[in-house]
Amino acid sequence: MARVAIVTGGTRGIGAAISLALKERGHTVVANYAGNEEKAKAFTDETGIPAYKWDVGDHEACLVGCQQVEADVGPIDIVVNNAGITRDGTLHRMTFDDWNEVMRINLGGCFNMAKATFGGMRDRGWGRIINIGSINGQAGQYGQVNYAAAKSGIHGFTKALAQEGAKFGVLVNAIAPGYIDTDMVAAVPEPVLEKIVAKIPVGRLGNAYEIARGVAFLASDNAGFVTGSTLSINGGQHMY
Ligand code: NDP
Repeated sequence: MARVAIVTGGTRGIGAAISLALKERGHTVVANYAGNEEKAKAFTDETGIPAYKWDVGDHEACLVGCQQVEADVGPIDIVVNNAGITRDGTLHRMTFDDWNEVMRINLGGCFNMAKATFGGMRDRGWGRIINIGSINGQAGQYGQVNYAAAKSGIHGFTKALAQEGAKFGVLVNAIAPGYIDTDMVAAVPEPVLEKIVAKIPVGRLGNAYEIARGVAFLASDNAGFVTGSTLSINGGQHMY
């Protein structure tokens, strides 16, 4: 059945692939973004998917933004919390601002978007919230105490909200991607990346569509008995 979906950070990288995968499955999709106007405009021109700009770390902006989306396209049934940033550095170099920004956007964004949409889903008796975590939230990663903590927090947030939503038909799941070939991974220094790829059993980086197809499954009626779970899509790099 066709639904209304919003994908945060949905105009480039993994988010763009998710937006497209949901559109291809017949959903009405809108994409949120933070400020890369060039990428957002090119994405909308190419796909017809409208782009809405706001900072998911800003609580009020999420409430107002989602209200506007609902006024424009109808009640939001599916939220994909994909927006995320990195501010890497070992603890002794990491500033409080690096810590705070990553927590505010990566984890706070999930709370803010859920606050804006969960009540409506619950009232209508159907909803899906799909949170993009990370292999580094499961396993930790040198130089990423902020990012690993935020992503690990997303996995806990998912399980807690799943318990609250289940009896109202609102299913909440996470995907933990491994290393995916996007701008975020392009920022990792080449020698570091080579060492990472050497540890991936399938022998390559993932691509954004491999994550998007997981999201499309979790958003579909085929996933009606799946909630509180984390789907790891990582080429076998971390198994448990
Ligand atoms: P990119 O850096 O390529 O894209 C990030 C997206 O998030 C952009 O659309 C950006 O908007 C948006 N964004 C950033 N900050 C905000 C904000 N404050 N409010 C709204 N939107 C924001 O990231 P990826 O596609 O690589 O990653 C997508 C998600 O997947 C992230 O949560 C990331 O942590 C996670 N992930 C990625 C992995 C990888 O290997 N790439 C591995 C594991 C998890 P704009 O275009 O306007 O800048």
